[in-house]
Formats: sequence, structure tokens, C-alpha cells
Amino acid sequence: MVSRVIPVQAFDLVIFGGTGDLAQRKILPALFRRHCAGQLPDSARILGAARADLGSGGYRELVRDALQRELADSELAKHRIELDAFLTRLDYLPIDAMDAAGWQALAMTLGPPTSDRVRVFYFSVGPSLFAPLAEQIWAHDLADDQTRIVVEKPFGHDLASAKALNCTLASHFDENQIYRIDHYLGKETVQNLMAIRFGNMLFEPLWNSQYVDHIQITVAESLGVSGRESYYDKSGAMRDMMQNHLMQLLCLIAMEPPAKFDPDAVRDEKLKVIRALETVEPHHIVRGQYVLTEGETAGDDNSYRETVGDPRSTTESYVALKAHISNWRWAGTPFYLRTGKRLVARSSVINVFFKDAPHSIFGADAGRHANLLTIRLQPNEGITLKVTIKEPGPGGMRLIDVPLDMSFAQALGADIDDAPDAYERLITDVIRGNQTLFMRGDEVEAAWGWTDPIIAGWTSRGDVPKPYDSGSTGPGDADLLMRRDQREWRGINP
Ligand code: NAD
Repeated sequence: MVSRVIPVQAFDLVIFGGTGDLAQRKILPALFRRHCAGQLPDSARILGAARADLGSGGYRELVRDALQRELADSELAKHRIELDAFLTRLDYLPIDAMDAAGWQALAMTLGPPTSDRVRVFYFSVGPSLFAPLAEQIWAHDLADDQTRIVVEKPFGHDLASAKALNCTLASHFDENQIYRIDHYLGKETVQNLMAIRFGNMLFEPLWNSQYVDHIQITVAESLGVSGRESYYDKSGAMRDMMQNHLMQLLCLIAMEPPAKFDPDAVRDEKLKVIRALETVEPHHIVRGQYVLTEGETAGDDNSYRETVGDPRSTTESYVALKAHISNWRWAGTPFYLRTGKRLVARSSVINVFFKDAPHSIFGADAGRHANLLTIRLQPNEGITLKVTIKEPGPGGMRLIDVPLDMSFAQALGADIDDAPDAYERLITDVIRGNQTLFMRGDEVEAAWGWTDPIIAGWTSRGDVPKPYDSGSTGPGDADLLMRRDQREWRGINP
């Protein structure tokens, strides 16, 4: 089962921040892989633009080093010839977003926009540069109404800043030209949520509060904040993960079926979910901050506060909360969301707990046996459905739960490993002009509108995050949150 590779249209892609960490670790490797897959037409051009004073030769060497660092030796060995061909696509211009230098040269290199080449400006720079870049692009006549811009997360720090950013971009670009990246949406398995829900008759009739007891969404990371300290300490788990990634998963799990798989139809339904979210009660939120496990020595694995260099930091590296969606489908079904750093394992998983059968014909001794659908996003992508069967053997009717387990890797073989990663898919979607997997401005604002009061609440109360051991499942209070509802978290280990 080999998927077909359809080359994209001819394009010019300008990566502002082309020497930065994201460009080197994600964007350029993604473009290289699409080049190797045969998806980039010969005439496609990639132009790095940043402050460093490099020539095209220097940039190509920088990108060669980056690819050698980021890709596995086996992958590089397989594509040694393609590597040189890919590098010849690259050019570089030193440009400062805050300064006039370099822009004329960029205009000369690109020429006026034409209808036979897609033009994309990728803003892989800090958000404070989005507005100056948008203005420079217009001042130098580099864009027309077909030009696309890609903006990275974080999209704002709160509702006011997100609105201001939307407003600035809207003064130069239409909404259908703006591609706000949440790379989670580009993950194969995240899109599979829609396929599982809307491609199978089996689940949808049961997908509501009548049959679903509750849903848990967990995005656990085993790494700490090392390397991103200063950004993270101003952000925290709520802004860095909950407002975007977990919110997107919640939307895909909870939304109504869109009429068609089309950008606005899908995003309209997601927006309705966010708007139907109730305000979260303060006692339904737990914040945590990792500390060193007893006996652990500092080093790479410092406590959160040591890592960020602030012994009094009250930024959360963990957050768990109970959310409710006020609509016909979900009234009364709680959604428990949690995310954190330095947890026991790296795992993203959604658990849909179905209700018990309304009446047990097997009597009280048979115990409770509710179905559980587990959707594993990473690692070991797949789904498991826990079903109840008779325990084999004589001696009466004893019931046990067994998993119906499907690992996508087993079912699909090598194809799943060859599937494009999130950035590969998202960049090719930008070139194709497909916005389905990108967040719309009103969606981002609605998500901040739900997040802001939560953050304002704990700030005004002066809440301090609860400490939790590195390598644990998070603070004990998160277990209490569940126990108060006679429920418990499903284990984090994949
Ligand atoms: P970085 O600091 O490594 O790189 C920033 C880039 O911007 C450099 O190429 C630098 O030369 C360029 N730059 C800085 N000031 C400039 C100016 N005045 N004019 C022109 N270019 C300028 O940052 P990064 O980690 O690559 O992040 C880039 C963006 O992507 C940020 O918005 C960040 O939040 C977002 N992001 C990064 C990651 C990641 O893993 N690195 C993940 C998600 C989102």
C-alpha cells in the first residue's frame, strides 16, 4: 500500500528566521524529505532570510550541517545524491525585519508575484517581528492576494495580544492567506481522529453523553524545560500546551461532524466546541511544578526552578483540569485534560470511557465492565478497544476484559513510518492552499477567551503550583481531582 506522491505547484518559499532553531530542526528537514519524495517541482525555490551575514554558499553549508545533525545516518546515506540537489534549491539573503537593508535585494530575487508560482513567507521568528515583517512585505510590493504567510506559535500571550496580532496581520493579508501553525494538527494520528470518528459507523452513534461516561486527554512529556527556559517561564503549561494542542485535540474529539472535509466546515465545528466550553471552576484545576526526585542529583535534570534560574518561579510545568462542554451532545460528560513536563513517559493518548451496561444479566458478582476506547497518538500510534468476554473454561460465567488492539504500525507496515511528519504535511498544505489543518483567527481568539480567566483566577488568588517528583505522573492533587468524582487517571505509560 504505497501512497501516491503528487508534486505541488511551483513555489517560492521565503523562510524568515532561516538560520534559527526551528528552521534547522523542523522546516528544512521537512522540505528535504518532500524533495526526496519527489514532491517539489524542479523550479521550486527556497530562500533563507535572517540577520546573519551569510552568502548562499554559507547558508547551504549551514543547512547541510543541520540535515546531517537532524536526520538519521541511514536516511542520509539513502539520499546522498538528493542532498546536493536539494541544497542547490537554496539561496540566502541577510535581512533585518526592523531595517530597510536587504529588502530591495529580496524584491529583485523574487520578482513581482505571478499567478503561476505560489509565494509563501514563513515567519519563523519571534512574534514581535510578525508585524514588522508583514509591513515590510507590503512596503516592498512582495505580495499579492494569492501570497501566503505562515506564522508560528505562540499566537499571542492572551486574548488581547492575539487580537492585536490578528488585527495587524489582517491589515495586510486576508484570513485565507494566513496559515497559523499548530504542528499537532499535522500529525498523522491527530488527523486520524477525524477518520476514526467520521469514517466508521461504529463509534458515532455512541459518541455522546448518553453512552460516554467521561473522556481523558493526556499529553505527557518526559523532558523538562531545559533549552527553552526563558520562553517557558513566561508561558507555562497552560499557555504552551493546553490553550493550543490539548484544545485542538478536545475539539477534534468533541466536535459535530462537519458537512464536508473542508477548511471552513471543519473549523466552524471546532470553534463551536470552544465557544461551548464552560468556565473552569478553580477547584477543577491543578497546577504543578517538577522537583528533583529524592536521591536524584542535579545536572541536566534540575528541578524546574533551578532550570529556569528563579527560586520563586510560580510558573506551572503541569496542569490538569476538568472541562465541561455545554451542548446537547456533551452536557454532563466531563473532559479531563492534563499535560506536563518531566513526567514518567512521553505519551499522548485519548481515553474514551463508555458507561456501564444499564443492567447486568450476569448478576452483581460479574463486576463492572465498561468499554474503553484508547486512541494512542504517540508513541506506538493505534487504537485499543477494551471489550468484555467470558473467561474461558468451565465453572460458570465469569467475565474478563480483553483488549482488541490495533497498532497502526502492525496494520500498515512500513507505510506508517514513511508517512510525512507534521511539518512536511503542513508545508505542502500551505503550498496547495489547504487551510483545514491550520487555526483560524477566531478559533485562536476563542481559545484564549477560555484560557485567560483561568490564568487570571490563579494569578489573583496567588496560587502556587504543587511540587511533583520528576519522573512521576504529576502532583497528587491531580489524582484527588479524579477521586472526588470516583474516577481515576489511566496510566501514562504507553
Ligand atoms: P531562534 O531564536 O532559534 O531563531 C530566530 C531566527 O530569527 C534567527 O534566524 C534570527 O536570525 C532571526 N531573526 C531574529 N531577529 C531578526 C530580525 N530583526 N530580522 C530578521 N530575522 C531575525 O528561534 P526559533 O526557535 O527558530 O523560533 C522561531 C519561531 O518559531 C518563534 O516564534 C518560536 O516561538 C516558534 N517555535 C519554535 C519552536 C522550536 O522548536 N524552536 C517550536 C514551536 C514554535
